[in-house]
Parts: sequence; structure tokens; C-alpha cells
Amino acid sequence: MSLDVEGACLCGAVRVSARLPDASVEACHCTRCRRWVGGPYLATRGVERFAIEGEAAVRTYRSSDWAERGFCGGCGSALFFHFLPSGGRSFMAGLFPALDTAGALREEIFIDERHGYYALGGERPRRTAAECLAELRRALGD
Ligand SMILES: [Zn+2]
Ligand SMILES: [Zn+2]
Repeated sequence: MSLDVEGACLCGAVRVSARLPDASVEACHCTRCRRWVGGPYLATRGVERFAIEGEAAVRTYRSSDWAERGFCGGCGSALFFHFLPSGGRSFMAGLFPALDTAGALREEIFIDERHGYYALGGERPRRTAAECLAELRRALGD
């Protein structure tokens, strides 16, 4: 069931409202995400529609051929991952207080790049980098 959420970065310059397909959250353990947010990346799984207020404060970083990452230029809060080939976006789960209680961690990706000093408990699909990259290549039509 769709879920409407809203939230803001640390300094409040950027506000995001979004309609999510559901309360699913995914974790990415890849090296790039770890450098970006200092730990596992935890984000919504897709978004049906969204609106960003304070877009002038948003900065983006092109982290690979296929993606850019958005963050607040004022406070550095990570905001979104933008998959360029499809235009798909996911937003950081921590932006949205509604997910503090409703959110459910449904999938972990790049599990083989996870560092040994943490592990997320519970049972869910966990995909390796090779599996994720194969899916990416399919999405890119290679
Ligand atoms: Zn900010
Ligand atoms: Zn990642």
C-alpha cells in the first residue's frame, strides 16, 4: 500500500515529500555507499512521486556512469540516489520520520562488500555485487 512521507535534511533547507510504493527499506553495503554515508546505505525502495522544496540547496555528485547522489549543500545530509538510465530515485530512509516505526528492511544488496564490524539481523534476501551488477547490466540493456 502506498505511503505518503515527508521529511527534511539536518539544517532544514531541503524538504522532501514523497509517495512510496510501500514502507520497504533496502540496505546497500557497497564501498561507495559506505564512503558516502559512513556506513550501510538505508533507503526507500523506489518512489511513486516526490517533490523537493529548497532544490537550490541540493548538490549532486556523479558517483558512477549510471548514478548520481544528492545531498544538502548546507549541512551535508545525504538525500537521494538517482539511477540515471531509468530516472529512478530512492531517498534516504532516515529523512522520513514515518519510516522510523513503519519501515521494514526488505533487502540487502552488495552483501559481499559488507565490512565485518556490523551485520543487520533478521532474514531477508541478500544479493551479492555480481548479482546486483548483472541486474544493472540488464537494466542498461547490455
Ligand atoms: Zn541541510
Ligand atoms: Zn551502494
